Amino acid sequence: MSKPLTLPEISARLATAGKARPDPVRVLAVSKTQPVAAIRALAAEGQRHFGENYVQEALAKMRQLSDLPLSWHLIGPLQSNKCREVSAHFDWLESLDRAKLVPLLARFRPPGREPLNVLVQVNIDQEAGKSGCAPEAAAALCDAVAAEPALRLRGLMAIPAPDPDFAVRRDAFRRLRALFDALRVKHPSMDTLSMGMSEDFELAAGEGATLVRIGTALFGRRGGADPP
Ligand SMILES: *Cc1c(COP(=O)(O)O)cnc(C)c1O
Repeated sequence: MSKPLTLPEISARLATAGKARPDPVRVLAVSKTQPVAAIRALAAEGQRHFGENYVQEALAKMRQLSDLPLSWHLIGPLQSNKCREVSAHFDWLESLDRAKLVPLLARFRPPGREPLNVLVQVNIDQEAGKSGCAPEAAAALCDAVAAEPALRLRGLMAIPAPDPDFAVRRDAFRRLRALFDALRVKHPSMDTLSMGMSEDFELAAGEGATLVRIGTALFGRRGGADPP
């Protein structure tokens, strides 16, 4: 495992990869399995958005870090029996993949809180067993989210197949970007395209990502103990 990158190093790479873009590409620090101390350290460097895959783990971290103004994104699969907790505590849901969850999320968003920011997750490579809706189902799902005042439709998220050939991944990023651009015509609130992870965030930034989700490259290997 190579040495993790610092936030300024990641920003510099994103600035190069995403050049000719009006707004900087934002970083979601994927903190699943990472200790609270590591999140605190990154927050002290100015990182604000953190991504978690498991609801219970995330809720425990939120409690321990409630003194910090962090924004929490759920990026793991969502079960219907977790909608209440997710809507009550998260700022973003990046992994909405079926219409059934939409009314539950809306109903459980606490009154007086900002709407829950929602990304529709698309199974862009149509992989069997992978979460995310089919690309042709994304439009209806976006319509359903946009119809709920307690939710705010912000865009799309995808995890392309981890093909070793980056030309294949680039093609997946391009297809996602094209879908995003098509859906935004009807939904101008869509301003977020979440794609790219540690291995391929520069490629994704070059193809129009507005948010890259970075775990390993920022924190070191999960469960491992990379020295600082
Ligand atoms: C774990 C995870 C990431 C981060 O992966 P890295 O390769 O460690 O950067 C990004 N997105 C999702 C949905 C994940 O589950």
